[in-house]
Amino acid sequence: KTSTAISRSDGHESRSTAPDPPVKVVVRVRPVVGGEKEGDRIVRNVSADSVTVGDRVFKFDAVFDSKSTQGDVFQAIGVPLVKDALEGYNASILTYGQTGCGKTYTMWGPPSAIIEEHQKSSHQGIVPRVFSTLFTEIEKIRDDVKNGFYVENLTEEYVTNLEDVTQILIKGLSNRKVGATSTNLKGSRSHAVFTCIIESWSKGTSSDSFSSSRTSRISFVDLAGLESSIPDGAAMDYKKESKIVKFSLSQLGNLVNILANVPQSGMPQNIPHKNSSLTHLLRESLGGNAKLTIVCAISPDARCKSDTMSTLRFGQRARLLENKPVINEITEDDVNDLTDQIRQLKEELIRTK
Ligand code: ADP
Ligand code: MG
Repeated sequence: KTSTAISRSDGHESRSTAPDPPVKVVVRVRPVVGGEKEGDRIVRNVSADSVTVGDRVFKFDAVFDSKSTQGDVFQAIGVPLVKDALEGYNASILTYGQTGCGKTYTMWGPPSAIIEEHQKSSHQGIVPRVFSTLFTEIEKIRDDVKNGFYVENLTEEYVTNLEDVTQILIKGLSNRKVGATSTNLKGSRSHAVFTCIIESWSKGTSSDSFSSSRTSRISFVDLAGLESSIPDGAAMDYKKESKIVKFSLSQLGNLVNILANVPQSGMPQNIPHKNSSLTHLLRESLGGNAKLTIVCAISPDARCKSDTMSTLRFGQRARLLENKPVINEITEDDVNDLTDQIRQLKEELIRTK
C-alpha cells in the first residue's frame, strides 16, 4: 500500500505530454576485447543517434559508443523505465545481438557487480540499478512495509527489499545455461527472462478503501546469442541448443517483420505470437500494452560484420513497432461500476429463472 504519491493526475499528465516514444531501439557498441585490434574496427562514426558500418548509416533512438558506461546506459533507458513502471505502465527491456557483444553485460553486469548491492559497482548493469532505484523511490512513497514487489521467477516470490531481489537474481542467473564455444567466448545458450510485478494503491477516504490501484509489469529479456554460424568443434548439445535458439530467434524476427508492416498493410488477422514460447511470452511487449526498449549489442570488429548488420537491420525493423501502452489502473469508481453490474446481472438471472 502506498500513499497518494502516485496520484491519478500525475499519471494522466505524463501520459498526455508523453515525451518518450512507446518503442525505443538503442545500439551499444562494445569496446575492443581479447584478441581484437582497434585497426579491425568496422563500426565508425558513432553519434548520439547514428552509427556507420562500412558505408551504411543507421539511425536509432540512441547510440552508445565503446566508451559509454553502464551509468550512461542506465540514465538513458533505466531511469525512464523506473518512472514508467511506477506510473503504472508495463515496461520491457530486451537485449539482442550476437554472442559476446555485451547483452548480458548491459542487462546484468558481471555477477560480482550484482552482489555489491549498496556500494554500486561501476560495472552494475541495468537490472540491479533498476531495483536499487525502485526501492529508493518506493521508500519515499510507501507507508506499509509489508507490501513490496512480486518478483516472478518461475514461481512467484514476494519481496520487500533489495537483498531479497538480489538473492533471486543470483539464483536465476546461476540456473542459466552457459556453453564455451571454440572461439572461447562464453555465450549464454538460453534466453533469460526476469519479470517483476508492482502493485500500488492510493488511499481512499476511509482506512479500508482505496481510490485507485495500479499494476505494472517490468520484463527484462536477455536473449541468447544470435549466431549465423555454429563454431567448428562445438559439442553435440551445443549444436542442439543452437538449433532451438535459432528457431526462437527466427520466430521473433518474423513477428517483428509482421508487426513492422502494420503501419502500411494494416493489422493481419493472425499475429503469430504463439509460434514459439519466446514470442508468446513477449506478446504484450511486442505490439501490445507495454513500453519497449530494445538494446542492440554489437561488436566493433570487422569479423563480426554479417551478424552486426543483421542485428542492426532487426533493430531498424523493431523501430516500426506500434505498441499501445496504457496506465493499468482501476479506480474506486470502476470497482463500484463493476459491483453494480454484478448486482444487476444477478437480479436478471433470478428474474429469468
Ligand atoms: P553476450 O551476453 O552478448 O554474449 P557478454 O555481455 O557476456 O556478451 O559480453 C562478452 C564479454 O565482453 C564479457 O567478458 C563482458 O564483460 C565484455 N563486455 C561486453 N560489453 C562490455 C562493455 N561495454 N565494457 C566492458 N566489457 C564489456
Ligand atoms: Mg549473454
